[in-house]
Amino acid sequence: MGADYPAYREADVVLHDGSTVHLRPVRPADEAALLNLLNRLGEDSRTFRFFSGAPNLEAAARDMAEVDYEGRYGLVATRGGDDSLVGHGAYVRGAPGHAEVAFAIVDEMQGQGLGTILLAHLAEVAGENGVSLFVAEVLPQNHRMVEVFRESGFPVEIASIPGAIEVQLPTSFSGGAVGRFEDRDRLAARAAVRHFLEPSAVAVVGASRHRGTVGGEVFHNLLQSDFGGVVYPVNPATEVVQSVRAYPSVEAIRGEVDLAVIAVPAEGVTAAARECAARGVPALVVLSAGFAETGEQGAARERELVETCRAAGMRLVGPNCLGVLTAEPGAVTLNATFAPGAPPPGNVGFVTQSGALGLALIDLAADRGLGVSSFASIGNRADITANDFLEYWESDPATGVALLYIESFSDPRRFSRLARRIGRRKPIVVVKSGRSVSGGRATGSHTGAMLSASDVTVDALFEQAGVIRTETLSELLDVSSLLAGQPLPAGGRVGIVTNAGGPGIMCADACEAAGLEVPELPDEVREELAGFLAPEAGLGNPVDMIATATAEQYRRAIGTLAAHEGIDALIAIFIRPLLTRAEDVADAVRQALAELPREIPVLPVFMSGRDRAAMAATEAAPVYLYPEDAARALGRVMRHVEWRERPEEPLPEIADARPDQAAGLLAEALAGERQWLGHEQIAELLGCYGIAMPAWRLAPDPEAAARAAAELAGPVALKAQGAGIVHKTELGAVRVGLAGADEVGEAARAMDERLAAAGATRGAFLVQEMAGAGVELLVGVVGDPVFGAVLACGAGGTQAELLGDVGVRICPITRAEAAETIRSLATFPLLTGFRGSDPVDLAALEDLLLRVSAMVHAHAEIAELDLNPVIASPAGAVAVDARIRIAPATPPSPWPKTWR
Ligand code: ADP
Ligand code: MG
Repeated sequence: MGADYPAYREADVVLHDGSTVHLRPVRPADEAALLNLLNRLGEDSRTFRFFSGAPNLEAAARDMAEVDYEGRYGLVATRGGDDSLVGHGAYVRGAPGHAEVAFAIVDEMQGQGLGTILLAHLAEVAGENGVSLFVAEVLPQNHRMVEVFRESGFPVEIASIPGAIEVQLPTSFSGGAVGRFEDRDRLAARAAVRHFLEPSAVAVVGASRHRGTVGGEVFHNLLQSDFGGVVYPVNPATEVVQSVRAYPSVEAIRGEVDLAVIAVPAEGVTAAARECAARGVPALVVLSAGFAETGEQGAARERELVETCRAAGMRLVGPNCLGVLTAEPGAVTLNATFAPGAPPPGNVGFVTQSGALGLALIDLAADRGLGVSSFASIGNRADITANDFLEYWESDPATGVALLYIESFSDPRRFSRLARRIGRRKPIVVVKSGRSVSGGRATGSHTGAMLSASDVTVDALFEQAGVIRTETLSELLDVSSLLAGQPLPAGGRVGIVTNAGGPGIMCADACEAAGLEVPELPDEVREELAGFLAPEAGLGNPVDMIATATAEQYRRAIGTLAAHEGIDALIAIFIRPLLTRAEDVADAVRQALAELPREIPVLPVFMSGRDRAAMAATEAAPVYLYPEDAARALGRVMRHVEWRERPEEPLPEIADARPDQAAGLLAEALAGERQWLGHEQIAELLGCYGIAMPAWRLAPDPEAAARAAAELAGPVALKAQGAGIVHKTELGAVRVGLAGADEVGEAARAMDERLAAAGATRGAFLVQEMAGAGVELLVGVVGDPVFGAVLACGAGGTQAELLGDVGVRICPITRAEAAETIRSLATFPLLTGFRGSDPVDLAALEDLLLRVSAMVHAHAEIAELDLNPVIASPAGAVAVDARIRIAPATPPSPWPKTWR
């Protein structure tokens, strides 16, 4: 077995010092030479290689000589003769696509780049043999080995596991491996969704002759839609279903079937799925309920269904869903839902997790003339998720807006990546019900307490990804119809025309509350308006055309304001007076829209149900019942436009960071007992990322504390450390502004007395230089199992929690996001020189946020971190108190997964 000795892989390579070594694949006959090599390894190298100082070298050499040139491959570097080995590198294939790599290099050849060369050669061979990912375990102290991996130019991912650093790197490195994985994932998702939305033959398993049943309605809908393919009813109990000859089983169908819709009772679904699998059907929509939504038994049934699908490579929408639907301009082309009505065709792609809500929304959307390009109810989303549809819509010319109703995220990281990319061209509107995903989060820190309280994490994700989140369903429709039917505004300046003062003012107020502007109109515009409006008309903004306003005046006023470059969007309010007819005004607005001098959104508001219907009937623009609704929708769209226009920014590089040292430290700490790091570890870890702390010393007793104070510059803070001492101030375990050795010694003795009285056991004293006067902030991070690391920054230190004044972002953050987080704080003015104090160094504070973000992003093992307070001053930003909890973590894979 295995392949022949690949002589063509032999090569001579040049090392850093200009000398060469010869590389050749290992031969089985190399066992003795390999043992020699291992014997030449220094003590450290041997420990690093075998994780033990006294390994069985004979066994190791035997193992290394065993190669098949495919799954087990080794390379040796020789110098001075064919069996004089100076280095060895090998991979052993394990899990599909994965291989472990390991190296051994004699001491005198280290630092010459030999490790990197061996790695590159191995990667090439491994790639050809189906290995896409190398995995290596490295001892914590051996973080230099990680540098060897990094130097190779491969995108290295590191994770700390108890007692070791785990290194992962792809074996292909040309042209951005990640990008290629992403492309592959995108194509796979699109191909999957295409089976559901563009099938050419559909089987309905459980098609029924009885209307009013799920199987009856879905079959009826399929026949009613303009579907160009074949529909097969499958029902063993009858020969004909709704005038179509029925098949007793999927197997009995002659032609290809590329989508099966399953509407049999839950107990029969897996059997039906098996039958479809046997028949080679690539996609299933399972309408049947009775799965995970019903409890443990249903959940087991769902797992069985999913396993059946996976084993066959078959994709699944549902179970417990309403079905899927697609439309082309003019017609619904596939209606595989059991909904009583179909939405009109349009440009909105719509995915809903709730079927019932999907039904209601289809109805309400149709009322507003909002049409869909494709609709999917994904139910329990056991396989296909909203993310897959987003991937599909990205390249679907029929879809211009994505609309999602979701209750929970399957993969928020992927959602965020997709939304950021797709949202630049097609807006995404989401209504997410407010159930907190973070309810069960452990809270050992201020940050944890703050973040577990609400839905802020989801808000942060949407905000950062440019997703428009609406609070209510009616707002969802308000925003979607604006996006679907009108151009995006170029800015936030709104012109308002109205025939009544009150609604105009309410509208202007609502605009301002929504972050929009209602600017004054320049003289030339006012003059033009005066030319055709009543002499009593108000020519400011809102333009109050008064109750006598005619349809023609609406038309001309809209045209005049739309021509004015200082206006980005228009709201036209009509409230029925005695004389003017709503139909006439509606028609005038339609005309005005048809002859607009430039692209600008116009939002008609017709303030009565009947009048609104008159405007809606023109199908010229989305129409609103209340001015506030129009203002709020416009405000949301405006924020999205701002996000979209912000240039895409790469993640900042922390050039002086030492991630490998940090990973080593964390690996060692994970091997120990403690969850909360000690001060020395914290200082080293923060130091690896350049996060500043004041100079400090640890001292075992009051006398040592006094000596330590003398070594430090200026006044100091004295803090007692200890396992039970968490909130030091409360225990009297903090004194600040102490000057000189005597004062510190005294304070330390007093502190000891206090602690003894309180029954607290002290560890060492921490003596710390005082930070300069400044503003106290809280900077914290909590690792969320679903979202990854979530960063919080609030002014007011401990009081941030109380004040609720906190900015939240999901890591990693960009420089612009760091700046935004700080500026979003209500207490931001405190940082810019409030009441004559000097402004703090904002750049240093932003930098600190970026460093924290980079650190927690690189090391998922940091479960919780509280820098409380960070003191921001004109001189910079330093953390004077830090708590860090660690926990084993599986880092998020950098590679998108085809299967969730
Ligand atoms: P804890 O939060 O456990 O009560 P801290 O170490 O945060 O203890 O100290 C409490 C307060 O003392 C801080 O909020 C800060 O106002 C002040 N403080 C502590 N250390 C320093 C320092 N090195 N420089 C300036 N002020 C400090
Ligand atoms: Mg504190």
